Amino acid sequence: MSLPTMNPITHADCEQLDQQDSLASFRDMFAIPEGMIYLDGNSLGVRPKAALARAIEVVEQEWGTGLIKSWNEADWFQLPQKLGDKVAKIIGADEGEVVVTDSTGINLYKVLAAALTQRPDRKVIVMNGSNFPTDNYMAQGLVEQLGDGYEIRFIEQDNVMAAIDDDVAAVCLTHVHYKTGSIFDMAAITAKAHSVGALTIWDLCHSAGALDVQLNECNVDFAVGCTYKYLNGGPGSPAFIFSAKRHHGKALQPLTGWWGHADPFAFERDYRPASGIDQMLSGTQPILSLAVTEVGLDIFLQADIEQVRRKSKQLTQLFIDLMAQRCSEYGFSLVSPVDGDLRGSQVSFNHDDGYPVMQALISRDVVGDFRAPKNVRFGFTPLYISYSDVWDAVDRLVNIMETQLWKQPEFNQRGAVT
Ligand SMILES: *Cc1c(COP(=O)(O)O)cnc(C)c1O
Repeated sequence: MSLPTMNPITHADCEQLDQQDSLASFRDMFAIPEGMIYLDGNSLGVRPKAALARAIEVVEQEWGTGLIKSWNEADWFQLPQKLGDKVAKIIGADEGEVVVTDSTGINLYKVLAAALTQRPDRKVIVMNGSNFPTDNYMAQGLVEQLGDGYEIRFIEQDNVMAAIDDDVAAVCLTHVHYKTGSIFDMAAITAKAHSVGALTIWDLCHSAGALDVQLNECNVDFAVGCTYKYLNGGPGSPAFIFSAKRHHGKALQPLTGWWGHADPFAFERDYRPASGIDQMLSGTQPILSLAVTEVGLDIFLQADIEQVRRKSKQLTQLFIDLMAQRCSEYGFSLVSPVDGDLRGSQVSFNHDDGYPVMQALISRDVVGDFRAPKNVRFGFTPLYISYSDVWDAVDRLVNIMETQLWKQPEFNQRGAVT
């Protein structure tokens, strides 16, 4: 299946692509509000229909009736590892290398600290200055706490290779840029880092569930990422943490709570690290949220990741082409890479009036988001977005620009969350 080469693209072309779509049946597994075109799955994925029944079951039965027995009987205690093994399949890791726990930011702190202990004679961390800020904030907190000459060397995508020299302890980057959707070359950057003796940490927030990630093939050392974006785990669902087997028992994370202890129920006075991936855990986990997260993972595991990636590239390409065809006179400039191989599952444009334009679009049930100062962002989750959705989204946007709906005062007041 390929995109229509005829110009202009028509609505019928989009319907035809839908008919040929091998992933089309997944859409019915998700509860998408009637009439809504949801292009924000890169911020918060939609609810799997089965999540509701699972939530009721875990609250009513496992918590309500089972109570404390459920730690064993419902296998609550092993949920971080059980879900971790499922995530491992999605990101090219092996069993026993991933746990689902805590938030992305906290996990980043843990693995960055663990990596630095492996390179005690080096003080430089390479990071992307325009990354989603929490990664950088967490690293800044760690550097402040460590003192002792640690520093962050901020780079942008075009100078990352030159910044990796033998002062560098760790290269800590996000695989797909949260604003532009641009993909960093995981294989080449990891190889370069290793060639100078540095370790790598990859944030997969915008890749897991959208791209064919191959952590072990790329020889990555550590990774983190969230489950509430393309993996549809629910608001604030726990994140994941990957540590390559070769680092187990050596690169230890510093939040040494009892769940990371070698024998948690021995209640010993002193911390002894667990030997495997369990050491990445710190404490009691949000079981309700973990249980629901599993529903999203189980759906994703039924999909062929290569088909997901192919559809993702086609959806984003269709959107870019339709914007060029129908919306070119309204001041949108493409920020995302034109080459689909370099683009994640989202498309961003800069627009001087991006905020009110997005608000007006949301009022017409096309939900994307806005990232300051002038970035309008559209995420395309291949499991529930159709080619006709892309057509309809552009259609409604064209209408908003033609009628200047976005100039109305109600679209110019800012909420706390953009
Ligand atoms: C979404 C996202 C996060 C989220 O961090 P939380 O700890 O869950 O708030 C972190 N990093 C990146 C790059 C993200 O895109």
